[in-house]
Amino acid sequence: MKTNFSLKNYSTFGVDAFCKNLYLPRSCAELVQILSTLDKTREKHKVIGNGSNILFYKKCKKTTIVCTRKMAKRITFKNGFVTFSASCTMADAFAYCLQKGLSGFEKLALIPGTIGGAVVGNAGCDGDEIFDRLVSIKVYHNSKVFTMKKEEVSRSYRDTFFKANPSYTILSAKFSLPECDKKALLSTFIFSREKRQEKQPFGKCGGSTFKNFSSVPAGKLIEKCALKGRRIGGACISFKHANFIINDKNASSKDIVRLIDLCKKSVKKKFNMTLKEEIEIF
Ligand SMILES: Cc1cc2nc3c(=O)[nH]c(=O)nc-3n(C[C@H](O)[C@H](O)[C@H](O)COP(=O)(O)OP(=O)(O)OC[C@H]3O[C@@H](n4cnc5c(N)ncnc54)[C@H](O)[C@@H]3O)c2cc1C
Repeated sequence: MKTNFSLKNYSTFGVDAFCKNLYLPRSCAELVQILSTLDKTREKHKVIGNGSNILFYKKCKKTTIVCTRKMAKRITFKNGFVTFSASCTMADAFAYCLQKGLSGFEKLALIPGTIGGAVVGNAGCDGDEIFDRLVSIKVYHNSKVFTMKKEEVSRSYRDTFFKANPSYTILSAKFSLPECDKKALLSTFIFSREKRQEKQPFGKCGGSTFKNFSSVPAGKLIEKCALKGRRIGGACISFKHANFIINDKNASSKDIVRLIDLCKKSVKKKFNMTLKEEIEIF
């Protein structure tokens, strides 16, 4: 366990925010043991994966963080179902599927998160969502480990039951993945990658800052407020895609939060629409 530890390398924003304690379990059994102890001692804690959808700000200072990133990655294939441990990345899942000729992760492969984080946020790309081929999820809750069927988990666009119930920890997820020609998988992946490279900026960020509206992408509204390139401290709104806030000059969390507020106020004033964060500020 590390105490008063900087989370700079534990979030893709790369900001220098500190947490109370940091645990890095190496296995699922160790994770369950840590969570069980933290529950018993009523220690405030939060489980994270790759930190690609989270901006560490104030709450983290008083919270013990449990990061699954260093946990052993397990992939099992049984009775036609594939189970990935929570620590597997989307890229790990796609690499496995490509090798086996299974479809389901070719559009999700470049989402830079873990299976655990993706399930919590119902991550998706190009019309595919992680829940599409999900069958069930193994969870830890209140010192018990059990399975939840997909149907038991309410979900919507970039949102699930787990987001509102952070006391549930995802341990693994089971998928039903249809067989598919490997060349077709690869070409879908390459097409998706090209689209991403064309549209999205590089740099330290949390992906899309705000959720899109069904009628209009959030980035378009921000762009129409003439906010592309707007800078506060070390952070700026990307020129390439206005829904991305980039930490390009050693930004603080506060710089990013101030840009988020600026986007929300400007879009509200100009369009009377309320932007909702896709990233979590913690
Ligand atoms: C460049 C870039 C591009 C992106 N593109 C996309 C995209 O195309 N589509 C998309 O949907 N997202 C995208 N994202 C956002 C992000 O990658 C996804 O939301 C991803 O699924 C988050 O996974 P994570 O492991 O990083 O989760 P984290 O950021 O670590 O955590 C996210 C939430 O999940 C919780 N959590 C994580 N693991 C567990 C667990 N095992 N049990 C319980 N709770 C857990 C955390 O507490 C937190 O609330 C992008 C991000 C970046 C930086």
